[in-house]
Amino acid sequence: MPEPSESDRRKAARLQPAMAAMRLVDCLERGWDVQFRCQYCGMERTWGRREFLGQRLRKRLARTIAQVQAGVFCPQRGCGGHWPIVRLMRGGYQDAQADTPATQRAHVVTMLLDAGVLPEEVGL
Ligand SMILES: [Zn+2]
Repeated sequence: MPEPSESDRRKAARLQPAMAAMRLVDCLERGWDVQFRCQYCGMERTWGRREFLGQRLRKRLARTIAQVQAGVFCPQRGCGGHWPIVRLMRGGYQDAQADTPATQRAHVVTMLLDAGVLPEEVGL
């Protein structure tokens, strides 16, 4: 079987419109993790709350999944593949009390402030 072409890989990685437009901070608010799977070497990595609020991502939370997908490269040595397959998964850090949009919003604002990020810096 021939190697998939560049456009095959791009096609395989295509996102549903609703997901493409979702921002990282929306994922944080809803308690979702973002998983990337490299189409070249199969390596998987997941961004959850810890990564979202970490030094590298905290200022980029206003980016959409589509922007992030277009800009990431596989960190595996010697791979560097792009167009990873992206999936959203429940991250298991939902606040049981945060069951309305307003309480979810309050919860994510608290998380951001605790991490030293101003909500307006990430588009909230
Ligand atoms: Zn890879």
